Amino acid sequence: MKRGIYIHIPFCVKKCNYCAFLSFDAYTSPRKEYTDALVRETELRASLTEDRETVDTVYIGGGTPSVLDVSQLRDIMHAVNECYDVKPDAEITLEANPATLGIKDGVTLAKLQAYRYMGINRLSMGVQAMDNARLDRLGRIHTKENVTRDMELIRKKGFDNVSLDLMFSVPGETTADALADLKEVIGFGPEHISCYSLQIEEGTPFGDMAANGELIEVSDEEDRATYHEICRILRESGYEHYEISNFAKPGYRSRHNSLYWNMDDYIGLGLGASGFTGGVRYKNTEDLEEYIALISEGRLPTAEEHVNTAFDNISEAVFTGLRRTEGVTYEEAADAYFRAPDAEGSRPEDSEACRDLFRKVFAEAEKEAEEYAERGLLIIDEKGLRLTEQGIDISNSIMSLFV
Ligand code: SF4
Repeated sequence: MKRGIYIHIPFCVKKCNYCAFLSFDAYTSPRKEYTDALVRETELRASLTEDRETVDTVYIGGGTPSVLDVSQLRDIMHAVNECYDVKPDAEITLEANPATLGIKDGVTLAKLQAYRYMGINRLSMGVQAMDNARLDRLGRIHTKENVTRDMELIRKKGFDNVSLDLMFSVPGETTADALADLKEVIGFGPEHISCYSLQIEEGTPFGDMAANGELIEVSDEEDRATYHEICRILRESGYEHYEISNFAKPGYRSRHNSLYWNMDDYIGLGLGASGFTGGVRYKNTEDLEEYIALISEGRLPTAEEHVNTAFDNISEAVFTGLRRTEGVTYEEAADAYFRAPDAEGSRPEDSEACRDLFRKVFAEAEKEAEEYAERGLLIIDEKGLRLTEQGIDISNSIMSLFV
C-alpha cells in the first residue's frame, strides 16, 4: 500500500469565472497564520501514529500554491520532512499557475530554484487555454505569452516532469479552437497533460450567467466530439491515455493521483482537505477562521469522519478504478473489500473466487452492466471490467451502478 500527502493552499490572485474550488483572495487573507496552522496540523496528524510513516508522494494543490512566499512553502515542506519519511524518489508536485511565478525572469528563476531546493520535482500548471480572449473570458490572470515564458524558465531550471491542464467546451469555443490549443500545448513537450471539459457550477459567475441566459453552453455532442479528437491526437503524439482526463508520456503518470484511483492511503492537510487513512475517510473544516482557531488550541480541524465498511471500500475501488483506462480487476476489488474491519471471512486466493465475490456484492447491477457491455460501452472479462472510450461518455451512469 502506498501513501501520499495532499496539502491545500486556498489562496488565489483572483477568482476565475468558473471556479467553485475552495479559495480566497491571496492578498487579503491571513497567509502567514494559515501556513503556521498548516505546519501545526502536519505535526498533529503525524502524532496520531506511533511510527513515522513513509510517504511516496506529496501534492501541494489549491487554490494557487505558487502565490505563497517561498519562505512559507519552505516551512510547509520542512514540517512534512520532519514528521514523515518522504522517500528519496518521492513524487513532489506543486501547482504553479502561470503569472504567479514572478514578475521578472530573474524573480521566476529564483522561485523555481527555491522549489527545487525544497525537493519539488514536478510542476502542474493550469494553462486552460492558449488564446488570450478565451483566457480573459475564463477570468484567468495570465496570457498565453506568460505560459510560453514560464515553460521556458521551468525547463531552464531543470524541471523534467511538468503537467499542463487544458480546458475544453468553454462557451464560445469551437472544437477547432480547442484542438489548436492542444497542439500548442503539445508543442511545449510536457510529460503529462490533463484535459477537462468545463463544468458550469452554480454560485460562480458562469453559473449566474447561464441561469440568466447570458451564456450559451457547448452542446453535449460537440463536447464529446472534441473529447474524442483530443484523445486521438494525444495518443498519436505519444501520450498514454491512462485515466478519463489524464494523458502521460511513458513513465510519467501522476503517481499522486493514482493513489486516489488505487484506494491507497493519503493524508489530507489544510482547509477543506480530505484524507483516507487506515480505512477512515475524513474531511477538514472549510471555514478558514475555524481552521486556524482549532489548530491554535491544539485540536485537529476534522469536520467529518467516516469508517469505511467493506461495501464502501469495494464500491469506491470500482468507482475510482473505472476512471483508469485499465479499469479495475476483481482482485483489486477483493483487496479493498477485505481491508475493512467488518468484512467477514478472508480474501479469496484466486481471481475466479474474487470474481464470485464481486458478482455477489453487485448482484443487482449485473444485468445492467451486461447491457452496457452488449452496447460496447463496458468490457467485462475474466480479470475485471473497464470502460471503452465510448463508455467514458456516460461514465457517470455506468459507475453509479456500483455505488
Ligand atoms: S486559479 Fe484555480 S483555484 Fe484559483 S480561482 Fe482559478 S480555477 Fe479557482
